[in-house]
Amino acid sequence: MRKVVIFAFVTSVFLMVSCTDNDTNSVVELTASEQNDLLVLREEEKLARDVYLYSFDKYGTTIFNNIASSEQNHMNKVLSLINLYQLQDPVLPNRGEFNNQELQTLYNDLTAQASISLTEALKAGATIEDLDIKDIAEFENRTNNSTILNVYAKLKCGSRNHMRGFYGELVNNGVTYTAQFITALELESIITSSNEQCGRQ
Ligand code: ZN
Ligand code: ZN
Repeated sequence: MRKVVIFAFVTSVFLMVSCTDNDTNSVVELTASEQNDLLVLREEEKLARDVYLYSFDKYGTTIFNNIASSEQNHMNKVLSLINLYQLQDPVLPNRGEFNNQELQTLYNDLTAQASISLTEALKAGATIEDLDIKDIAEFENRTNNSTILNVYAKLKCGSRNHMRGFYGELVNNGVTYTAQFITALELESIITSSNEQCGRQ
């Protein structure tokens, strides 16, 4: 009996130690800017989703619904990283509400723009994708972490497709969009190239 108890004790200590070792091995410490970028990006993807859902409710145009579900997918990808690195998820449950005050202001401004007309809603969409591509490129410059870079690449690829979508709809409505965050050259190279496959590993 005593031997069994000792054995069980030794086994459980061993398991505890090996679990702790595994945890410290698998979770890499992120720098403060890597952490901050993930938290901003998580809410930035929510900003995109919530503005597109707003526009879909108002105009019923499919592009908003389709891209909103892609943004939900982007939000999920960033959440996986937030969970992996044991950060606190900043996302609030309600649509149109943000912890980050800059993103809150942006949501208010962009939905005000989107409420004017379908064309303005499409321009608001192009503006969001323009900003996302610029921000993700900046985030990429602040990390060497391949797990994070892999997600950034997929999200930026998705944003380029979304930009092609909104830009194409604007052109169909006789309107053009001028880049506000990325360069005119970068926008040109996106809209003159075809849609990409972003989901594959
Ligand atoms: Zn996105
Ligand atoms: Zn997007």
